[in-house]
Amino acid sequence: MARIPLIAGNWKMYLSLAEAVDLGRAVAASCADLKNRQVMIAPTSAALAAVSAATQSSTVKLAAQNSGWEKEGAFTGENSPVMLKDLGVSMVILGHSERRHIFGESDAMVNRRLLAALNFGLQPILCVGEQLADRDQGNTFAVVENQLRAGLEGVSSTQLDQVVVAYEPVWAIGTGKTATKEQAQEVHAFIREKIETLYEKNLAGEIRILYGGSVKPSNVDALMGQADIDGALVGGAALDAESFDRIIHFK
Ligand code: PEP
Repeated sequence: MARIPLIAGNWKMYLSLAEAVDLGRAVAASCADLKNRQVMIAPTSAALAAVSAATQSSTVKLAAQNSGWEKEGAFTGENSPVMLKDLGVSMVILGHSERRHIFGESDAMVNRRLLAALNFGLQPILCVGEQLADRDQGNTFAVVENQLRAGLEGVSSTQLDQVVVAYEPVWAIGTGKTATKEQAQEVHAFIREKIETLYEKNLAGEIRILYGGSVKPSNVDALMGQADIDGALVGGAALDAESFDRIIHFK
């Protein structure tokens, strides 16, 4: 089965409510002519309801930037996957490097969130990626493998088709420094190979692996031309309607 490309915009903690609604509408309009590719946007949780209403008649998928591991409970500051689904959310970014490195989220937490997302019907994007020191010390593959194994712990073969993986080298996020297409492809191929070891060949062939880290209109075509790159997780350039329009129309 062919892997349908997915371009995902992570709006992080940016945009006023009015700006988020305007951008949501612009992305929805950009997607009107798209065939055989998917587009997702992840506004802040404060803007999800409004952006959901603004994009509901479009093909744009709505995502949260994180989700809790229980249906409900005493978890101040968290959003349950069930509550997110009520808002029209269908996907969630998990284990983003900003969650891991600024807020101290562990692999175990990311895994709990991921299992809950799957159980309650949200499609998770599991983010993995090395820091600059890891790469400099030759530990890129070990770090990525550990995050991948820990994040997917307890995920069954039948659940795996709901999972998307995003390779995001931390040194390339928000820095303007993109991994070269060769660097990205090398790690994507490695991730697919590991998934084949953990599951089986046909599942490894079907899972989508996105690249994230300073994706821009100027580099998206080269990255998307790589055999194992199935889409992009875009931060900064997703906040500008024109740039994101060019990215989703990658060639
Ligand atoms: C991200 O937020 O996941 C990201 C890749 O950001 P940027 O595109 O700005 O590097």
